[in-house]
Amino acid sequence: MIDTHAHIDVKDFDGIRDEILARAEEANIEKIIIPAIEPKTFDNLINVASSSDRLCYGIGIHPHNSNEINGEAIKLVEKIINEQNPVAVGEIGLDYYYDFSPPDVQKRLFRQQIKLAKKYNLPVIVHNRDAFDDLFSILEDEQDGSLSGVLHCFSGNAEQLEKAVDLGFNVSFTGNITFKKTNLAETVSEAPLNRILLETDSPWMAPVPHRGKKNEPAYLKFIAEKIAEIKKISIDEVITMTTQNAKKLFKILVVTLFIFFNTFALIAQTAKTDEDEFKDIFSDEVESYNPYEKSLGFGGFLGTNTIVQSIEETRGIRDVSYEGIIFYGGMVNFFPWEFVSIQLGYVYSKNKKIVEKSKNLLGPNIHQVIELGTQWYVNPNSRLNFFGTLGPSIIFNKFGEGTDKERENSSFAINTGIGFNLNIPFTGVGLLTVSAEWRLSFDMTVSNTFGVIFNPNDPNDVKFVEQRVTSFFSLPRIVLAFYPFNRQ
Ligand SMILES: [Zn+2]
Repeated sequence: MIDTHAHIDVKDFDGIRDEILARAEEANIEKIIIPAIEPKTFDNLINVASSSDRLCYGIGIHPHNSNEINGEAIKLVEKIINEQNPVAVGEIGLDYYYDFSPPDVQKRLFRQQIKLAKKYNLPVIVHNRDAFDDLFSILEDEQDGSLSGVLHCFSGNAEQLEKAVDLGFNVSFTGNITFKKTNLAETVSEAPLNRILLETDSPWMAPVPHRGKKNEPAYLKFIAEKIAEIKKISIDEVITMTTQNAKKLFKILVVTLFIFFNTFALIAQTAKTDEDEFKDIFSDEVESYNPYEKSLGFGGFLGTNTIVQSIEETRGIRDVSYEGIIFYGGMVNFFPWEFVSIQLGYVYSKNKKIVEKSKNLLGPNIHQVIELGTQWYVNPNSRLNFFGTLGPSIIFNKFGEGTDKERENSSFAINTGIGFNLNIPFTGVGLLTVSAEWRLSFDMTVSNTFGVIFNPNDPNDVKFVEQRVTSFFSLPRIVLAFYPFNRQ
């Protein structure tokens, strides 16, 4: 679970912060996002946030403090975005209930900070009280496809919810949905599960049964439970989806076991900050993407196969290679989670080349592979997303096909690769994905592979010799996949 809004930095937690964080960890809170309130507490906020890798923070100025703000404060927010690593601009917004600052001042500050968020490709954490009309008119005006964010502590009605969702926003629910006299049940039941985030708004808004006491992230489960109860779904589903939604919005990458993929993520991140044009396509998320709906896809691919083999013969080791063999195949891709897919594929290629005539050597005529790959996505849900692949495969080779001395063998290989997807949504039909991928296959079976001696003057004169062969395949491919269940 991710607590997307908890003011862990405020004085209420001084002296008990470690205890609170320990309890949060025990309650399976993976991450806590601390939104900023005002410039004079920024230093403390960043200090607190850097004390644990479970903490991250937003930077921005709360509408309550709009009045005290001058150009310097906005510059400071931008400086922190540039030099530090906030995950959002927030919390920002409008509050006409307390009316600490005049609406015009609040609106101006809100817009300035939205522009910063767009400039740096960060989501916004939006506070709103009694200001839906002005809030929506600003968001509508600023939404050019590059603005994302959450309306925190959402307390609107079903109509306002629809408007927020149409604007591409997430909504987060807090302790007030658990209150006996809440009027938010309809809003919660109407809210699409792929747009809901969880938050405690600690130290305020403690959920039942802790209502009235100091709130803390460990109480997040009471909010998840209430949503599950209202929506009549399992609490696990609420937790899985809201966690995914938060990771997607705040671009919190999952830590994979493979340094390789982390390096790859870094490359992607660098590309993201270096190239403005890239930035746009990265942030251009596929609307209404729901990982559960993208669960199953079918596809075909075409590629070229380069085989390099080391053959251990009595006279020593020699290397041979066959290049440019066309292969094709099909696959089924299943997404158990947003960041990972499991792919079952079949590859077929036919090789007619005699590679080294002088050495009378023939590669396998028919090469078939059944592969089981896991794909790890660096930035899922984007129009252009990158992935790494890892998985085992079984290889079937046929030698001397069409002759009366046909032989077969099979071996086991490990595949690894990298690639990118271009996701093209078709409204009401599904999602089409065009991928380019480069895979390497290392044949792990050494001893039961056959080498083949062939006399090119007589295709029927094929001799088979049992040899130790280590194979390595390079398999760049173009993939076309279709996800019919991802209805837009
Ligand atoms: Zn707040």
